[in-house]
Amino acid sequence: MDAEIIAVGSELLTPNRQETNSLYLTQKLNALGIEVRFKTIVGDNAEHLAQVFRAALGRSRLIFLTGGLGPTEDDLNRQVVAEVLGRPLHEVPEIRRRIEERFARFGRTMSENNARQALVPEGAEWLENKLGTAPGLWISHQSVAVVLLPGPPKELEAMFEATCAPRLASLATGECLRSRVYKTVGLAESEVDQRIAPLYKNYQNPRTTILATPGVIEVHLQARATNDVEANELLDQLGDRIEAALGEYVFSSGGESLEEVVGMYLVMRQKTVAVAESCTGGLLSERLTRVPGSSNYFLGGMVCYSNELKATLAGVPADLITEHGAVSLAVAQAMAEGVRKRTGASLGIGITGVAGPGGGTPEKPVGLVFIALADENGTQIREFRFPGDRERVRHWATQLALEAVRRRLRD
Ligand code: ATP
Ligand code: MG
Repeated sequence: MDAEIIAVGSELLTPNRQETNSLYLTQKLNALGIEVRFKTIVGDNAEHLAQVFRAALGRSRLIFLTGGLGPTEDDLNRQVVAEVLGRPLHEVPEIRRRIEERFARFGRTMSENNARQALVPEGAEWLENKLGTAPGLWISHQSVAVVLLPGPPKELEAMFEATCAPRLASLATGECLRSRVYKTVGLAESEVDQRIAPLYKNYQNPRTTILATPGVIEVHLQARATNDVEANELLDQLGDRIEAALGEYVFSSGGESLEEVVGMYLVMRQKTVAVAESCTGGLLSERLTRVPGSSNYFLGGMVCYSNELKATLAGVPADLITEHGAVSLAVAQAMAEGVRKRTGASLGIGITGVAGPGGGTPEKPVGLVFIALADENGTQIREFRFPGDRERVRHWATQLALEAVRRRLRD
């Protein structure tokens, strides 16, 4: 079965609010074997909404509308859907009573505006909202199911779990969709594609898409089957070949982030890490500590931005900075070794570079970054030239520092 989602709300068409309800719904629907074929964002405008909804009725058998169930003038979903379907609205006393009770519980009286939330199109079922006043609606119209859910994500999620998931499970044809994501670092998108296109081209199922995100190229596989076991077998068949073709560049196939994978290795090898950061300004520490449980292996970080602090905090010899400059192989090495020594960590990382946009010279252009990794066997230092703006350069630097740790601990 295929579905369509219509997210309603003028704020979702501005740069200030991101539309997320459809992402939640898509994930839940896919797990039930239902694929989302179309999604639309439309503002709080009756005519536009009617247009979009009519189009959906002509092509989809399961239509979700989110938002626009509130008590205010701009909440139009209930009215528009009722009108397009030609079903008059009737007040349901039970809903009105519940809304009044809810207000009473918070010591307030219901305003007459809220009464419109008790209106239900003829023949529709209403769905209880445990977290808010607006009930949802489930309308079986000819061969189409139209489902109206509230806009606030928490309310939508609770309602979907409690009322929609069970109904959909019995509606769904028993098809099942499963997906897997291989994440790689260190290869360009075109290099990933070159390696795996000869493999995935031969498969309609799973379907393969390559997605480039900053610092990570992801390979998404989606398999369709009659049950979980079969879907996973399909994913294994192609997935194993893809993983082999991408080799050591793959750092995760279970959704983990690079910092999580690095954390796993550090725990597994019983190692600790400490970092000395210049151009990344603490970003690497931030990423490492995003992972719950990172206190088991992350000792801490120094942000040594000035030459003085590179010397006093990380113990970089002052003459090294004078001789080679703050952005240099030698200083990165001294930072990594210094922080390792001063904290007693098993691994020390040093990062120094030119994040830009200013500060670049012909010898040391914007994007030049040195990353050093020190452990008991010595120090590995690498020089990079990252493209892009300041944010990109800084992100890339943390990405390749994490990758250096992963590679060191992998073998
Ligand atoms: P309310 O009773 O709160 O008015 P509602 O059903 O009318 O509920 P909206 O008014 O459309 O819902 O949205 C309420 C809140 O939920 C807003 O802050 C809105 O930004 C957020 N929201 C609505 N739709 C989405 C969406 N698709 N993705 C993310 N947030 C959303
Ligand atoms: Mg509203």
